[in-house]
Parts: sequence; structure tokens; C-alpha cells
Amino acid sequence: MITGKTKLLGVIGSPIGHSLSPSIQNAALRAAGLDYVYAALPVRVGALTSAVHGLRDAGYVGFNVTIPFKTEIIPLMDDLSEDARRIQAVNAVVIGEDGRMVGHNTDVVGFLAGFVERGIALTGKNAALIGAGGAARAALWGLLRCGVSSIVIGVRSVEKGAALAADFSADGDVRAVSFDDTAWIAACSDADIVVQTTPLGMTPHTEEMPPVDTAAMNPAAVVYDLIYTPAETRFLREARARGCETINGETMLVAQGAEAFHLWTGKRPDVELMKRVLREELARNTLRY
Ligand code: NAP
Repeated sequence: MITGKTKLLGVIGSPIGHSLSPSIQNAALRAAGLDYVYAALPVRVGALTSAVHGLRDAGYVGFNVTIPFKTEIIPLMDDLSEDARRIQAVNAVVIGEDGRMVGHNTDVVGFLAGFVERGIALTGKNAALIGAGGAARAALWGLLRCGVSSIVIGVRSVEKGAALAADFSADGDVRAVSFDDTAWIAACSDADIVVQTTPLGMTPHTEEMPPVDTAAMNPAAVVYDLIYTPAETRFLREARARGCETINGETMLVAQGAEAFHLWTGKRPDVELMKRVLREELARNTLRY
């Protein structure tokens, strides 16, 4: 039951009605016996500052941040975690009792959880990263943080890819190449780890494929697609047929939420329950298509 003592959490974004986080977080909060409630909070584009100050002044203890505010919110923070600072994006905010707001990015830990769950070590590995958007930044920094030897980023816009590579050039061997470049074909066949961060193959366009020849991939490679609808993209299906170990985006989605839950409550949630709720919600959404 929500009372005057219930602690307030939420997710801001525009649009936000499709967010699965309220179902997942509220189920985990209830299961943990914690007196918190988590709501989807639609914030108008152009009204971020007043909305964030309003949440702080209304006594919220934290909130998630999603598209299109992950970068725009940075100047409103009193401090940033190392991961948020490195990738210049905030997806979770913790508000102290004094109103101090700290921006975190739990996508990095969420992304790495895919490898951790399977006991896959990243140190010394060569990686190929498909795409250079927001999720690619979290994946790139996560891979570098875990000691991969080299990362080749495949892009359709070389300028955008080069800018991303330059942001992390001090942290390791990172370069961007065009999907049309023969260096991209070589990087994909040499890679120990291939990470797919574009929307190619996502429901309802499930026949789309990123520009990678799966027949030329190393069967010993680990192939990670950040997409979670469908649970197995065509890219992952082909990689699995090639013999590769595959990881989908479900673990990342749940683990980033679990990490935010921990930041707000100091407790670890029931991750299996969160996964179950995610699958139920996705199945319900699929029925609605
Ligand atoms: P984003 O910032 O818009 O970046 C998308 C990237 O994909 C950009 O580099 C874009 O290229 C590239 N791209 C888009 N369409 C393409 C096409 N037709 N051909 C080649 N490249 C294309 O999006 P994002 O936030 O990073 O999200 C990307 C994907 O990751 C989505 O499917 C999202 O659902 C998934 N994701 C999953 C999780 C999770 O928890 N599992 C978390 C975040 C994101 P340009 O740079 O040239 O535009």
C-alpha cells in the first residue's frame, strides 16, 4: 500500500508510456518488502530542468533517465559516477536527503553482466563493435574497462565513428572503419567478441541483419546482440548456427535496472523475478502488435 512514508522513484523520458521499468521495478520492490513505488513520468521536451528540480524538491529519492534526456541531464547533476562521466550519459540518478543529485550510468554494469553471467573473461580479447550510438558508448567503455586488447567499431558514418573512437583513444586500441571497408570484414572474422548495438533486426523488422558475414566469423567468438525483442535476432540465430556462443539484450536490460535498484535501496533485487516480469511484459506487448 502507498502511504505518506512510501519512497518515490520513477523513470523520466519522452515518450515513456512503453517503458517496462515500472512493472519490473515495482515487482522487485514488492518482493523485497521495500516501501517504495516506481512510476513512469512523462517529461516534456524542453522542460527537463524544471521537471528534475521538481522531482528533487518533491522528495523523490531517485529516478531513471531515458531517451531523449540521457546527455542533456548532465549539467543538472551535482556529481557523476566514473561510468557516467566516461560515457557522458546518465541513466540513473540518486537524490540524497540534502537534495544532492548524483548521475550514474548502470548500462555499463548491465552490459558487462551478459559476460559475467556466463563466466566469459574479456582481458586480452579482440572485439568488433557494430554501431556508434548511445548503447555503443556504454559497450565500448565496458569492454575497455575489462581489458580487451583492441576494438574495431563498424559504422555507416565514418565521422561519427571516428569521434567515438577518439573519445576513448587514451584507454586502448580503438578505431572506427566503414562497413564497406575490407578492414571491417577482417575485424569481424578475427574478433573473439562481436557486439551488435544497432536496431537492425529488432521487432517488427526481424529479417534485417547488421552488415556482418556470419559465415566468415570465428566459431569460437562470443556474439552479443543488445536487442531483446525478438529474444533471438536473425543475427544471433545465424551466429549460433555458426557455432558461436550468443548473448541477447535481456540480461543487460534487467541488470541495469538491478544496479539502479541497488543504488537507490542499498539492497540487491531478485534478478530472476525481474527477468520473469520482463518476459511476461514482452509477451503481452507482442500480443498487442
Ligand atoms: P542510437 O543511439 O540511435 O544508435 C543506433 C546506432 O545504430 C547508430 O550508430 C546508427 O548509425 C546505427 N544504425 C541505425 N540504423 C542503422 C542501419 N540501418 N544501418 C547501419 N547502422 C544503423 O540507439 P541506441 O540507444 O544506441 O540503441 C541501439 C540498440 O540497442 C536498440 O536496438 C536498443 O533497443 C538496444 N539497446 C538495448 C539495451 C538493453 O538494455 N538491452 C540498452 C540500450 C539500447 P548512425 O550513427 O549512422 O546513425
